[in-house]
Amino acid sequence: MKVLVHFEHDGGAIKRGSLSALRFARDVAEQTGGAVTGLVLGSDAGDAASDAARYVPVLVADDTALKPAIAGPHARVIADAVTSGGFDVVVGAATSAGKDVLGRVGGLLGGFMASDVVGHEVADGELLFRRPMFAGSAIATVRLCGGPQVVTVRDASYEPSDAAAEPGAITPLAVDTGSLPRDVEVTGTPPSQGGRPDVTEAQVVVSGGRAWKSSEDFETHVGALADLFGGAAGSSRALVDAGITPNELQVGQTGKIVAPQLYLALGISGAVQHLAGMRNSKVIVAINEDRDAPIFQVSNYGIVGDVYEVVPLLIEKLKAADA
Ligand SMILES: Cc1cc2nc3c(=O)[nH]c(=O)nc-3n(C[C@H](O)[C@H](O)[C@H](O)COP(=O)(O)OP(=O)(O)OC[C@H]3O[C@@H](n4cnc5c(N)ncnc54)[C@H](O)[C@@H]3O)c2cc1C
Repeated sequence: MKVLVHFEHDGGAIKRGSLSALRFARDVAEQTGGAVTGLVLGSDAGDAASDAARYVPVLVADDTALKPAIAGPHARVIADAVTSGGFDVVVGAATSAGKDVLGRVGGLLGGFMASDVVGHEVADGELLFRRPMFAGSAIATVRLCGGPQVVTVRDASYEPSDAAAEPGAITPLAVDTGSLPRDVEVTGTPPSQGGRPDVTEAQVVVSGGRAWKSSEDFETHVGALADLFGGAAGSSRALVDAGITPNELQVGQTGKIVAPQLYLALGISGAVQHLAGMRNSKVIVAINEDRDAPIFQVSNYGIVGDVYEVVPLLIEKLKAADA
């Protein structure tokens, strides 16, 4: 199978989730005797294309019309690249941005899409995908009955790919700007809170729940702990709904799906909708004053106690260890 990987980037480096998508792509190509090509989109995308080429040969659509990264125009370019290149599969990361873009690509290419894939196998030359359903309560095995196939994979399920021994070629891809949808205009981009990494990118995510009474309390405890780890601050929906934390911090079924090396849940009960977003984290540590809180059922380590007492102690100990 010919597999195209949609690479998300920060203007220079390819994002970790895309390297997990590349792992999936290489595996499928290997098992079916196919090949992998990367696709980088953007404006001034040269650096990102060079980084991507460390892994695979790359097509680069570099045009001012692709800045900022609005899903509609990007999806059009990806769909055209899939059609003109005769690709069987296009895969990207199951991030918010990845799902936004590739969902549209699926629509443009006929609707043969599997999202949030956590595993796959090739049986009789056909791809079978494993993906969570019902907020992760069940894992379905699905086959797409047509193509091109559009796939998003969860990075927790695929180790990021390594660079290739030799860099791949970079091939410019012409962009037909006249065909791009122009129905959305970006009027501003708010800076991320505290300059911290996004929850989907960080190796450590420190999340707070309803236990926190105000934005100030959240920042001086959850935010401070996240900073000590060089990690991201996350939140349950309870705090987002209460206006204590911004929407982009929400982890869960209707928030972001994360799978860091370490997830700290501070005053979060562990509702099924929250677990759907973080249960694949490598190590989970929970602090909750209720010893029967469901979060302890998925935690590797738990502390029964008041977050207002335990978290300052933790911060103190970490600072002392760092000194
Ligand atoms: C369709 C749908 C989608 C949803 N999507 C999401 C989602 O994406 N993400 C999400 O998070 N939720 C989501 N929810 C909401 C979810 O059902 C829960 O209501 C929410 O996760 C609860 O957040 P919480 O754990 O912070 O609050 P609570 O459930 O109220 O838990 C607070 C916890 O803090 C503990 N606590 C309180 N004070 C302290 C203290 N001082 N010290 C220590 N522990 C303390 C309590 O014992 C309790 O366990 C969704 C719900 C629906 C219906």
